[in-house]
Amino acid sequence: MCGIVGYIGTKREAYPILIKGLKRLEYRGYDSSGVALINSDKSLSVYKAKGKVSELEAYCADKNIDGTVGIAHTRWATHGEPSSTNAHPHYSESKNLAIIHNGIIENYAEIKKNLIDKGLKFQSETDTEVLVQLIEYIQTKKDLDLLTAVQVALHQVIGAYAIAILDKRHPDTLIAARKQSPLVIGIGDGEFFVGSDASPIIEFTDQVVYLEDGNIAVMKLGEELKVVSILNEELSLNVKTVDMNLGEIEKGGYPHFMLKEIFEQPNCLINCMRGRINIDSDRVTLSAIIDNRDKLLLAKRIVIVACGTSWHAGLIGKQLLETFCRIPVEVEYASEFRYRNPVVTKDDVMIALSQSGETADTLAAIELAKENGAFIYGICNAIGSSIPRATHTGTYIHVGPEIGVASTKAFTGQVTVLTMLALTLADARGTIKHSDYVKVVKELTVIPEKIKEVLKVNEQVADLARTFTYAQNFLYLGRGYSFPVALEGALKLKEISYIHAEGYPAAEMKHGPIALIDSDMPVVVIATHNGMYEKVRSNIQEIKARNGRVIAIVSKGDTSIAKIADSVIELPDTLECLEPLLATIPLQLLAYHVAVCKGKDVDQPRNLAKSVTVE
Ligand code: GLU
Repeated sequence: MCGIVGYIGTKREAYPILIKGLKRLEYRGYDSSGVALINSDKSLSVYKAKGKVSELEAYCADKNIDGTVGIAHTRWATHGEPSSTNAHPHYSESKNLAIIHNGIIENYAEIKKNLIDKGLKFQSETDTEVLVQLIEYIQTKKDLDLLTAVQVALHQVIGAYAIAILDKRHPDTLIAARKQSPLVIGIGDGEFFVGSDASPIIEFTDQVVYLEDGNIAVMKLGEELKVVSILNEELSLNVKTVDMNLGEIEKGGYPHFMLKEIFEQPNCLINCMRGRINIDSDRVTLSAIIDNRDKLLLAKRIVIVACGTSWHAGLIGKQLLETFCRIPVEVEYASEFRYRNPVVTKDDVMIALSQSGETADTLAAIELAKENGAFIYGICNAIGSSIPRATHTGTYIHVGPEIGVASTKAFTGQVTVLTMLALTLADARGTIKHSDYVKVVKELTVIPEKIKEVLKVNEQVADLARTFTYAQNFLYLGRGYSFPVALEGALKLKEISYIHAEGYPAAEMKHGPIALIDSDMPVVVIATHNGMYEKVRSNIQEIKARNGRVIAIVSKGDTSIAKIADSVIELPDTLECLEPLLATIPLQLLAYHVAVCKGKDVDQPRNLAKSVTVE
């Protein structure tokens, strides 16, 4: 959600670095963008445009874009419609300062009213402009330097922010600060970079500092990076080396990041299991469990908190953990959990799932559970992000940067980690037969090969998708482990094709959704050979009796459902508990191809953000 890029140096032009950085952050979702530059003639220029970064580039084509210091932003509107006026950067009244901001200033209305009473004028409807005006007001009134004015202003502000700010009277300094929104500083040779994550920075330096909440970074040319608190205590620098490679965040010949990421899944899952599953001994080892054995083994209850796709992975995790470990598991929407005054005790283990590791609601749920003494286990993808830092322990899914806004490989990565976690805990608790444990471990290691086989249906699914672009609605049905897969299939379709889709437990169909079925209604049914096969086949009969159009996901060689369904997509056989890892793939492809046929922006669907850093 929103992207921040900053550069301060002497040798390189800032504009190309900023634009490239914004493009690397496009995956986060945004509606407008802008750039501020301290030009070589010492003026502070701000250029902004609604829409894509390419619109900003077109707008800047005939403008003065020289200078070696600048900040840039992709905005995901929270206060004020998406427009070039509301886009960032925002000037202060005198136009000496320019700010970019990710997050929400919750008490902006009150501050704005005070400033208006003092005679200040506002150009935009944003909460961000209020912050820059406040900083300037404090700076001028008390004759303070920029850093002190920022510190005083941030004291008065309630909310979440990552900001970067320039003062044209001090072109050798760039200041950035964070609270609850991510911010990374890159340290180069006589130059500094700022990014919402490391992706705009890694081309130039691998030395980074992840700012912590309440930290302010002062980047002054000719000096070392300085990090201070709001109270101006100087903090020690925790410089990390990032090993993200540039190829990992480029499209690699695929037309869209989403398709690339769907096809990467076999390798991603190999990476996810690497060093954790020993094929020779058929053992799973998760260091997070070894280090925190007692806490995890004594858990009376597990609460999984997540949002969106991660929540669906959590539902699969519940079935795995309850089946193998015999511990009661609840799966909660983080946004509901945090405001519900939930019962949490020190006997609970919370598992927090988030691809970005920055999901604001999930972070808040973690804090609440921590205050109540629960032990927190994070499952995230983005290394060094906020959730892994807020949790007691955890496991990275290691599927590489996910750029497509609609999550694919992170979902299968999360399910793989949850499977390894359930197996390890069950083994330690003695709640799984050794032969069953070995069977699941062995099968998990061949899942990447089986996903490769499933990916061969790509062309078939692309043909099928063309016949469904007319649809206004879709229904997805599944039972047991396949029910969360149905939910995830429906979510993918709705996210990128904007077709309304619902996932339902197959047996629930007759309690409501069956009323919707007619000859225009495509119904995707996961009907593989498992304990529920006969029952799901009956559900398909019920749909056909009402002329619905059935796309069935079946086990290889199934001839019975092929006779009644309109189309079948075959999956290789696997264990029932691992079926989600295979059955999800054709549903990702279906959503992708329907969206492409409808001409939609697959990687950056409207209104969506990759990393939801506001609640
Ligand atoms: N709240 C700010 C705005 O609406 C920042 C939004 C963002 O994070 O992009 O402009």
